[in-house]
Amino acid sequence: MLEQSLIRIDGKGYKAYKDIQGEYAFPDYTLYIDYVQGDPFASPSRIRVRMEQKKARYQLEWFKDDYRRVALEDLILRKWVDKIKHYAFRVHGTGKSGMMMVDTPGQEILPRTAVVVTSEYVEVRMSVGLPAQGRRVLGRKAAQMLCQDLPQLVAEALPMEKVGLNAIEKRMRLIDNQRAIRHYLKKHHAVAFVQDGAILPRASGISDRPLSEGNVVPFVSPETMCVEINVPHGEVISGMLIPRGITLIVGGGYHGKSTLLRALERGVYDHVESDGRHYVITDDHAIKVRAEDGRRVEKVNISPFINNLPLGGETTRFSSEDASGSTSQAANIMESLEVGASTLLIDEDTSATNFMIRDGRMQELVTKGKEPITPFIDKVKQLFEEKGVSSILVLGGSGDYFDVADHIIMMDEYRPYEVTKKAKDIARIHTHNRKAEGGSFFGDVTARVMMAHSFDARKGKKEKADAKGLHQIIYGNTELDLLGLEQLVDRSQTRAIADMMRVLEKRMDGSKTLMHVLEELYKQIENEGLDCISPYQRGVHPGDLALPRMLELAGAINRLRTLKVRV
Ligand code: ADP
Ligand code: MG
Repeated sequence: MLEQSLIRIDGKGYKAYKDIQGEYAFPDYTLYIDYVQGDPFASPSRIRVRMEQKKARYQLEWFKDDYRRVALEDLILRKWVDKIKHYAFRVHGTGKSGMMMVDTPGQEILPRTAVVVTSEYVEVRMSVGLPAQGRRVLGRKAAQMLCQDLPQLVAEALPMEKVGLNAIEKRMRLIDNQRAIRHYLKKHHAVAFVQDGAILPRASGISDRPLSEGNVVPFVSPETMCVEINVPHGEVISGMLIPRGITLIVGGGYHGKSTLLRALERGVYDHVESDGRHYVITDDHAIKVRAEDGRRVEKVNISPFINNLPLGGETTRFSSEDASGSTSQAANIMESLEVGASTLLIDEDTSATNFMIRDGRMQELVTKGKEPITPFIDKVKQLFEEKGVSSILVLGGSGDYFDVADHIIMMDEYRPYEVTKKAKDIARIHTHNRKAEGGSFFGDVTARVMMAHSFDARKGKKEKADAKGLHQIIYGNTELDLLGLEQLVDRSQTRAIADMMRVLEKRMDGSKTLMHVLEELYKQIENEGLDCISPYQRGVHPGDLALPRMLELAGAINRLRTLKVRV
């Protein structure tokens, strides 16, 4: 039926494709053509294929729990990514003609909208470029795509036996273990775990795959920090446990400090089997904070770190169109605490020096009254004791931190050693003359209320909220720069953030706190699925979204140049 319709419109104007929108029964699945593009260059058409579980045969135990379902959907998606390349652009024509595409995941396993598994069916959402010559419909080629190639692709990639029982069971073991380690962290008051044998370095600055060439040193836990975790399926996984509190990672330049911290940053997500960091698991509310000079800050209480600015600038409601290194780092921390961060990850490479440390000599020369900044070293303990927020710090340059650290790990030729006792001994012998400047309390974290119309997607007569790559969103008339969010890992997360901001635009009513509004949204997503944030809503699938953390969504909102906070 579809085939005949396509052949009938062969040679007609492109608009004739609009007629094929609808639902088509194939022997083993149903094809839904949800949205038909306006011309061969426009964003591609959106289709779904849905196979009943009677035929697809995925077992309930693999998807009845959400965390397992996410891992199964991810595995099915990867099968499609693998197979679809053989079918993409088999037919040719103008513009996007012949394109066949599914959302392509990276090393992380994230909740996504590309594949949906329920007890009734399994569904894959795709984009296709309906073929044309100029603006004339290539109906026969479209028939080849949708009525010959697609059925083959579905047969090769959708039924359970094609994904493979072994692969699925392996995936279930992986995700069960990752979850077990996350539970272990909570139960044992720890913030991170790094498995013995883990491969932390990446292939290159632009590839997130594991380094495989040259001498790769697998991770080996220091004996004093090593634990064995009994995971489900009768295995034991050993590795380094980082307890809550203040942990320093020290060591010479180029010895692997930043690489370890980067693995910990990514450990808030689960990774695929072959990643090398698949059993590097971090507190999922851990946030990497860095200096980000030039960013906008809107009425953030940064007074725990910054006070008495020259000319009487306010720091309990600090705003800036162009924050400095230290104030931006302070704002990044305070904004993260506002939305529930429980571990801070900080690397000296990306920190403002004057935010991290002020030594004894400098304290003598520039007295406290003349220095607005209370350095992080003087607040890190209060932050933990008062707010329960841990810190992991990479620091090769300042031994003053020995005094405040609970655990000190030294990287030496890519191997970690625990040197806490040695460092504390050194601190006792080589006393320094710096004075603690932080007072006995950390200070307040202020919950802010965003004003209605804080973000406005209108651009002329239209509304626009589009992700451009991983680190940029065009929102209405403004460009939103997300380079400071180092744990944003997937373009589909960025797309989701743009859509979530559209949803929140209507909910920021000038009365609820940011945290409150975000919690409501995440509850809704938990109940209704990630589809609910898409502007397409029902009818047209949003097959290219992945869930960002609340911390990154808040981070995006905080960086918006039009944001307005209630006074
Ligand atoms: P640091 O922060 O201590 O200066 P980096 O973490 O930046 O050092 O690492 C320096 C280089 O060493 C990087 O190119 C990184 O890819 C590589 N590297 C890190 N860890 C390992 C490892 N375990 N095995 C091999 N190479 C590594
Ligand atoms: Mg470094």
